[in-house]
Amino acid sequence: MTGHHVRVWLAGPIATELNDLATAAAPRETGGLLLGWWDDDALVVRHAVEAPDRQASRSSWNRRPGVAKRALNIALQELDHPLLGYIGDWHSHPEVCGASGRDTQSLAATSLQYADPLVLLVHLPDRTLDVRAAHRGHPCSVSVSRQDPRTRS
Ligand SMILES: [Zn+2]
Repeated sequence: MTGHHVRVWLAGPIATELNDLATAAAPRETGGLLLGWWDDDALVVRHAVEAPDRQASRSSWNRRPGVAKRALNIALQELDHPLLGYIGDWHSHPEVCGASGRDTQSLAATSLQYADPLVLLVHLPDRTLDVRAAHRGHPCSVSVSRQDPRTRS
């Protein structure tokens, strides 16, 4: 896996889950973890898990490691899907602006801890997603598809 380019599949309920969580938290930011798996060289993003931050504001949400870890364990148990694992992070922006410099820097820094590329989804109020990825500390180029890879012809 080179990590220079990442194909991201937004699969199943992911878009709906992000919309619901972002809408419920507005006008504050919220965020959490992304669950999915690698399918050949494509990253399948399937579920969003919220890791609430009580101090979140209109322009900040911080990932609390203890909260994130608990949320991850509960979600993996409830979803009970053999392929699902942690593949990245997400958070919402209540204003229409994409991933910030701080967002992409923190993604790059976190990606140093993982062998595979890590993805970041930023949910915007117009329901679009800013999709980023990083591998071993460097940003990757990304292409995004909304079909499930298993249903493509
Ligand atoms: Zn952000």
